[in-house]
Parts: sequence; C-alpha cells; structure tokens
Amino acid sequence: MSRNNEPLRPVAMTTLLTTDLIGVSRGRSFPSDELDSYTSAGCGWVPANSALTPQDIIAEPNPWGARGDLRLIPDLASRVQVGNGPDASASPLDFIHADICETDGQPWAACPRTLLRNEVQRYASELGLQITAAFEHEFNLHSATAQPERLAFSLQAQRQGADFGGWLLSALRAAGVEPEMFLPEYGKHQYEITCRPTQGVAAADRAVNVREITREIARQLGHGLSFAPKTAEHAVCNGVHLHLSLQDLDGAPVLYDPQSANGLSRLGQRWAAGVLKYLPALCAFTAPTPISYARLQPHHWSASYACLGQRNREASLRICPTVSIGGKPVAPQYNLEFRALDATASPHLAMAAVLIAGRLGIEQGLTLRAITDEVPDELSAEHRQDRGIVALPASLPQALDCLRNCPELLQALPAPLLDTYFAVKHQEVKLTEHLTPAQLCEHYAHLY
Ligand code: GLU
Ligand code: MG
Repeated sequence: MSRNNEPLRPVAMTTLLTTDLIGVSRGRSFPSDELDSYTSAGCGWVPANSALTPQDIIAEPNPWGARGDLRLIPDLASRVQVGNGPDASASPLDFIHADICETDGQPWAACPRTLLRNEVQRYASELGLQITAAFEHEFNLHSATAQPERLAFSLQAQRQGADFGGWLLSALRAAGVEPEMFLPEYGKHQYEITCRPTQGVAAADRAVNVREITREIARQLGHGLSFAPKTAEHAVCNGVHLHLSLQDLDGAPVLYDPQSANGLSRLGQRWAAGVLKYLPALCAFTAPTPISYARLQPHHWSASYACLGQRNREASLRICPTVSIGGKPVAPQYNLEFRALDATASPHLAMAAVLIAGRLGIEQGLTLRAITDEVPDELSAEHRQDRGIVALPASLPQALDCLRNCPELLQALPAPLLDTYFAVKHQEVKLTEHLTPAQLCEHYAHLY
C-alpha cells in the first residue's frame, strides 16, 4: 500500500558491468542510492553467462552448465556517469566495471578483465614495464530518416553527423573518456571516434565506455549504429585500432631508439616480433567472428599478413607517425598500432592476448624480420617467405585452429576461459555457416 500520493519519480540505477568474452557488456542494476551495500561483495552472476554466443544462445556443451554462482565486484574508480543527453527523459547512464569473482572472493579464472589485470601486473613485476593504450573505433551511423551519401572525409559528411558527434563528445567528456576527434571516414555513413590513451586495464575499460556511450547517444537520437567489421557486402570496413606503447616504471618511454632505422628500440623489436609470431593465433581473439574475415583482406587498409610497417596502413602492426613540428620530442609520441582488431572482440581479452604475445617475444629474445612498407600481398611469395611474412587466417575456423596449435598461448591462458571460448566460437560458426556473405554482413551489423 502506498504511504502517500506524491507523484512517482523514476529511481536512478547503477549497473555493475562485465564485458564478456564476446565483447558484450552485461550486468545487473540496483538503485544508485544503495551503492554502498554493493561495494565490497558486489552482486550475483552466473558462470554460463560467459558461454553466450553473439546469437544469444548459450553454447553447449560448456564448462559450467546450470551450476555455480559468482559475484560481480565493482572497481569503483572505473565508474561512468553520464547525465541526460539529447533525450531529456532518458534515465542517465551509470555503470561500474566489475571483476568476476567466486563467492569467496577468489578471482574467477574466466574473467577477461582479471586476465588483463594479471598480465599488466606481470609486465610491471617481471619486465619493469607499464602499458599505455588507446582504442580507435570506426562505425556506421544512420539517422531514422534516410540521408544522402556524402563524400569521404568531407565537411558535408561531418555536418550530417555533427549533432550526433556533438552529443557524443559531450557524453564522453562527462564520462572522463577524454575524447579527441569525431571524424567522417572513407565509407558511406562511416565515422570514427578517438580518445586519449590511458594506462593498463583502464584503456580496455575506456574502449567499452566508448562503445556503450556511442550506442547510448545513437539510441537517444533514434539513429541506427553498428561497429560490426563489415555492415554490407560492398561497405568499407569498420576497424578498431589498438595503439600501444611501453614505459619503464618511472614512466620513461622504452619503444623508441633514435639510433635504430625505424626508431624501434631493441626491446620494441622483440615485443613486435612476438606479436607477429603469434598473430595468426591471436586473430581468434582479435578478429573473433566469421564476419571479421571479410575485413582482414588485402587492400582494405586493415591487415592480411603478419608484418610490421612504418606508417603502412596495410600492415597488421604499424609504427605510427610522430610529429617533430615545433621541436616536439619523439619518444613520448612513439607507439605501435595493432590493426588486426575489430569491435566484435572483447577489448580486455584482445588487449591481454596481444600483451601476452609481446611478452613472449621479449622473453624469447625474438628477432624482428617481418617488416615491409609495401602492400604485403603484392610482394613475391619468395620475398614474404624470406622475411617470415605469413598470411593471416582466412576464416574464424582457421584462426581457432591456429590457436589450438599454439601451445605457448594455450599455456598462458586459463583453461576454463579457453574451454568456454572454444565452445562459444564453435557454436557461433555452426549457427552462421549457412549464411551468404551478404546475410553474414547484415546479421553481424545488427549484433554489434
Ligand atoms: N577502415 C579501415 C579498417 O578497417 C581503417 C582505415 C584507417 O586507416 O583509418 O581498419
Ligand atoms: Mg580510420
């Protein structure tokens, strides 16, 4: 029975959020004014949720079945709060990234955020290194009423997306995401949003924040939005580019050496050689859906071979340009861009996997050979073989096979996480193998 007849007001909610193995953010919400009662022991969660395919079907068999209980433990420093945007009546966005724990507080072996945190800590404790990273996102945007196709990179395309972009930058600023640029891209109705780099786990959290806030602004404006790697058969692809640099524990950059031909330090060369050595297997995490392979093609400015290039947008790992105008120092700008990545990947899992590969490269003292500033597809097969430039997998099943045959990566990852991941991806392949290329584009355009 109601105690008075005061008009009701909606209760503001906070969500404890986990971004799962397939890059989908899920969680549970409660009244924001009760946050105190959730800070230490979090809220409940279910192991088999991690076995969901993008098609929203729990993969069978999976390691969890109907058994078990977990907790989502909030990392309070990661809270995102965005006040009302274009839809003044929308309930404000308020979520906190969480780690998945057992009910006794032990870390859960299949939590991607915990995996990334462990790897970041390992860099610090074993290599004396810190990681700075930023994820750039491309996406397609369609307003509710059909709009003409504008020219690539044009002011007209910018103006068409300017209302959306303005709200987006405002919301990202409010969330502490430090947005940099909103820009029209090469494709029709394609835009890109970039933000400043940050350290460690917060960089992957920030990628989630960018995706979810971008979706929220699109929802409030009634726009259609997709981050999927390819949204139509002849569409320009949407990539995610992961910029990474390493610093020592005092914050001094360690990837740059002015004496080296391309500026990459000895340590950086080993790190890059590790990423390239394991790249075919890494694709299982960074290009993790069947549609990802429509993007990883030559002449797409994405990645089709495992090679490093200086300012070469056909290279899977790119040495980014540095600017010397005005005497700007190079070392703090110097970074590597991992391009074999798209938004169907979990930012935490993908970043952890790339870091593991780079660490293995350092530990094994690998020599970097796979370098080219040509389109790798246009080199002769002998030249590629000579340099150790190998083709990336042509499909998700091929990438999963590369991972299955990579003992070093398998050993570096928790078995329950791998078992769940293989179960999900196996089921996803089965659920989509009957789709034509055009249907596959449409299918994933709706899911991501
Ligand atoms: N759209 C390209 C991709 O799929 C990237 C283009 C660019 O370099 O910005 O990754
Ligand atoms: Mg771009």
